[in-house]
Amino acid sequence: MTDIDHASRETPAEGARGRRNYVALVIAFSAIGLFVALASAVLPALAQSYLGSRNAPDAVLTNALLLNIALILLGWQRYKVLTSELASHREAEMEARQLADMDDLTGSLNRRSFAARLEELLATKCTADHGIATIAIDLDNFKQVNDLNGHAAGDRVLCESAERIAKLLPEGACLARLGGDEFICAVPYHTHSPDRIDHLVMRMVEQVARPVLHQSTAIDVTVSIGIAGSHHLGDEPTETPAQDLMHKADIAMYHAKKQGKNRFYWFEPPMENELRFRNELEAGIRRGIDNDEFVPYYEQQIDLDTGEIAGFEMLARWESPEMGLVNPDIFIPIAEEIGVIAELSERLIAKAFEDAKQWDPSITLSVNISPVQMRDPWFAQKILKMLVEHRFPANRLEIEVTETCLHENIGMVRSMITSLRNQGVRVSLDDFGTGYASLSQLRSLPFDRLKIDRSFIRELKNKNEGDQLVEAIISMSDGLKMPITAEGIEDEEVANALKRWGQLKGQGYHYGRPEPARKVVERLENLGRLVEASDENVVEITGLVGKTASDEELDGSRNAV
Ligand code: C2E
Ligand code: CA
Ligand code: CA
Repeated sequence: MTDIDHASRETPAEGARGRRNYVALVIAFSAIGLFVALASAVLPALAQSYLGSRNAPDAVLTNALLLNIALILLGWQRYKVLTSELASHREAEMEARQLADMDDLTGSLNRRSFAARLEELLATKCTADHGIATIAIDLDNFKQVNDLNGHAAGDRVLCESAERIAKLLPEGACLARLGGDEFICAVPYHTHSPDRIDHLVMRMVEQVARPVLHQSTAIDVTVSIGIAGSHHLGDEPTETPAQDLMHKADIAMYHAKKQGKNRFYWFEPPMENELRFRNELEAGIRRGIDNDEFVPYYEQQIDLDTGEIAGFEMLARWESPEMGLVNPDIFIPIAEEIGVIAELSERLIAKAFEDAKQWDPSITLSVNISPVQMRDPWFAQKILKMLVEHRFPANRLEIEVTETCLHENIGMVRSMITSLRNQGVRVSLDDFGTGYASLSQLRSLPFDRLKIDRSFIRELKNKNEGDQLVEAIISMSDGLKMPITAEGIEDEEVANALKRWGQLKGQGYHYGRPEPARKVVERLENLGRLVEASDENVVEITGLVGKTASDEELDGSRNAV
């Protein structure tokens, strides 16, 4: 909003002051008029009387003149005071209005004033040759910046990012913070050269990615960006044009996030459907948890030496009434994002405990744990509580965590693993080789087992190179004294290749696809490896009852995840 806009709109208070000012001015001018009339008669007479050429003028007239002069001086002074009062009031009001239009933290516009500004730009600057690009900018993983470095550091990152973005903007553009870590810009551009917007946005991605220094810590953030041009405006928008564009830029930004963050996309109409689908999935997942539609499937883990079943890995499946059987790759990341992963996982683990109690006690149960759950300080206690509640022996449980957990708070991960192991639960590192776990990290973290990712195992078909890679991983794990499970064994050839390296466990489609609990029972029954009826209630739970958190504490922490 321009200064002229501000000045031209008068508040009632300003109006009253203006009227008072006007009255003072009229009094002063009337007094001046009177003065002119009186003075022309009285002053010459006064002068002549002073020189002694005539008698003093009428005293009444002289007094009236003096009174008149006093009135002029008073009126003038009052006029000056009122004028300066008015100016300072006007300034204060303008400042207040500007503050109401601004984001306190970064000094950029806020949502309300941005929408008004965009509306104005669309109305005044949009022609066939000139468009307005709306650029939605969202910092990636900003929550982690806050969690790991504190809110002061988060604020610093926000201010620095706003400053860097603002510096890149051409004349006539504006920047706003919509709240949290979301920014938005409106940039006028030539519709014949949209690549200038591409260029601008690429510079934004580059500039924001430069580390931000806060108390001698360098903080790295990236941004995801979505762009909607005024040519994307619908013919019959349901919202105002500005809201329509902001919404579309947001959809494109969301798409950039989904494609892996740290990138930008222009809005395209199919993205709207993607978002709708995603919203439906979110609602479906929440409903599915309430309706108990998530079920555990089990994949066999084989002792490669003996060929016998050593355990099962529980893999989540969603029996969706609309979509049929849905794989975890689809719903786990969403459940993590919308904050329901802990609840989902705990329900599945509870079911898995009950299923596994029917199996021979020598058969272990592995469960996958999301990095989001590892951030919960009560996680180890929750597992412990569930083991006690379900009377399931801790030494039959193996928790699988992925390397991504190690990027987060490594100290917390270490204490979590330690406390789980102290209770007898084993912890293995899943998808080993796909992340960035360093040797020193591995040595310092007390894992019980490494699971080599299936991408390396697949390479074993590739003879020489694959062999060398797997051999290197296996000799490393020997050095760390950690046993190994090979994932994704798809055929006999690979299974035989692996057996050369001694005592390994293996799993993969070669031994069978993940199957529901009922099928596992059938399989084990045929092998005579179901628990004996008389054994069923004799479950070893000694050593389980350590310090457990109260129900309220655990419930409270679930909400915090
Ligand atoms: P993962 O832990 O690496 O699980 C192994 C995945 O590989 C499973 O996919 C399994 O079906 C698949 N697989 C097994 N053998 C073979 C093979 O021979 N060839 C190929 N190509 N694939 C094989 P699934 O069940 O779709 O699970 C995918 C991922 O979802 C899992 O990867 C795991 O990270 C995650 N996940 C599954 N259940 C849960 C859960 O309850 N909680 C969490 N947080 N994550 C889960
Ligand atoms: Ca796993
Ligand atoms: Ca895996």
